[in-house]
Amino acid sequence: MANRAGIALGSNLGNRLTHLQVARDMLRKLVPENTVYMQAPVYQSEPLNCPPDSPDFFNTVIELDFIGSPYELLEHTQGIEFHFGRGIVHQVNAPRVIDLDILYFGEEVIKDTILNIPHPEMTSRRFVLQPLADIRPQLILPGDKATISEHLYHIDSDEPPLSLVQSDW
Ligand code: AMP
Repeated sequence: MANRAGIALGSNLGNRLTHLQVARDMLRKLVPENTVYMQAPVYQSEPLNCPPDSPDFFNTVIELDFIGSPYELLEHTQGIEFHFGRGIVHQVNAPRVIDLDILYFGEEVIKDTILNIPHPEMTSRRFVLQPLADIRPQLILPGDKATISEHLYHIDSDEPPLSLVQSDW
C-alpha cells in the first residue's frame, strides 16, 4: 500500500536550484504511475544556527506516494544525498549541496535512533511550513490538532519572512 510522504529539500551550496531539480527528478522516479505528485514553490531563507557567512538556503517541499516503509524511503533520500557527495559524517549545519528530511509518512509516528516522524522540528520552521502550506494547508499531522496553515499562522520564530524564488521549477 502506498503512503503519502512529505519531504523537505534544502540546498545552500553551489547551484541551489539545479540541486533541488536533480533531487526532485530522482525522487519522482520513486513515484508509482497514476498517483498524485505535488511540489511546492522554491523559497529562499536565511541560514539558521549555521556558521558565519553561510549562504542562504533554497527550500521547498515535495509530497508523493511511496510504496514501502519509511526506512526504505530514508534509504532513498540518503542515497540521493550521497549522490551529491554528502558523507555520513558531516559538520552540524555546515553548508550543504542537498539536505532531504522526511517530514511525515501517512499516519506513521516513529521515534527511534534512525527516524523521527513526523519530523520534530517541522512545525517550528518557517522554511518548512511556508512551502508545505502552499500544497497541503489543511494537513493535520498524526497526533496533532492544528493544520499546517494554523501552525504557520501562529509560528513563534525569529526567522525573517522567506522570499519566493520560483513557483515553476
Ligand atoms: P541531517 O544532518 O539533519 O540530515 O540528519 C541526518 C540524520 O537524521 C540521519 O542519520 C537520519 O537517520 C536522521 N533522521 C531522523 N529523523 C529523520 C527524518 N524524519 N528525515 C531524515 N532524517 C532523519
